[in-house]
Amino acid sequence: MWGQPPRLSCQSAARQPQSHLSQLVLILFLLTLPASAATWTVRVQPVKLFNGAPILFQVKSPAKLDSLTGSWLTHRLTFTYDASTKTWFALGGVSFETEPGKYTLELTGQSATSKAPLAFSHAFLVARANYPKIKVELSVEKKFTEPTPEQLKQIDEDQKTKQEYLNRVTPDREWDGKFTAPADASISDVYGSQRIFNGKAQRPHYGLDFRVPTGTPVAAMNSGTVLVARFLYFEGNCVFLDHGQGLLTLYFHMSELKVKEGDTVKRGQILGLSGGTGRATGPHLHVAVRWQGAYLDPARLLQLPLP
Ligand SMILES: [Zn+2]
Repeated sequence: MWGQPPRLSCQSAARQPQSHLSQLVLILFLLTLPASAATWTVRVQPVKLFNGAPILFQVKSPAKLDSLTGSWLTHRLTFTYDASTKTWFALGGVSFETEPGKYTLELTGQSATSKAPLAFSHAFLVARANYPKIKVELSVEKKFTEPTPEQLKQIDEDQKTKQEYLNRVTPDREWDGKFTAPADASISDVYGSQRIFNGKAQRPHYGLDFRVPTGTPVAAMNSGTVLVARFLYFEGNCVFLDHGQGLLTLYFHMSELKVKEGDTVKRGQILGLSGGTGRATGPHLHVAVRWQGAYLDPARLLQLPLP
């Protein structure tokens, strides 16, 4: 259940003046208004926001801008100008843990002509998504549920690796255009579902699982830089791709890696071959989308019509 749709600002249609005189008065009035009183347009996709959603923000400003940044749920958004549509765009999201409510997007631009700052803010409603609550009894090896002290040491080391890379925000955008699926396969588990391992409730499933046999090529969902390409205890052979501005895609449980840390890759480039390494009940591909410290729904990112 989505709750109320968020209010969206849009360019209000100019009223038709009754006469030439009133038209003239209106024009004179508009000429005396400061630039900041002109209209901003802010569009979001998806139109109704919910926890776990990646968001495409599209902004039209009242005056030509040199730059545009935003603040959203304590995160920073850096906008890019798309000259073909005269629109500024940025990618962001809402974490799984965000409570339903009203949240404000704050925009700050710099006028291209006067160099003066231009600001605008707009509140959006965030609803709670209805993620599947089906609890599936899965059995995994004891080494994952009751690791030995030695295995715990490895897990702790991996935790440091993940801390170091998973919250990384590099300033430049490397992704370009739509994100594409990492494999042509059916989905075996969706984002947000609740899982139980050996009778114990785990955190929600923060990724999207593709049903692929071992040895299936795994493709980069967009262009980026390889941050991590190594074996981790739970993730198995995995790749973390940095797409810039805090957006990462993660690929787990591979049997073989085909890239190394520091490589730059293009969308569709093969990162490795799928498998069942790490904590996996069988061969499959788990992909996750991380934005500035929050896991977002990969299936929704694949649906976004990105410029
Ligand atoms: Zn998974």
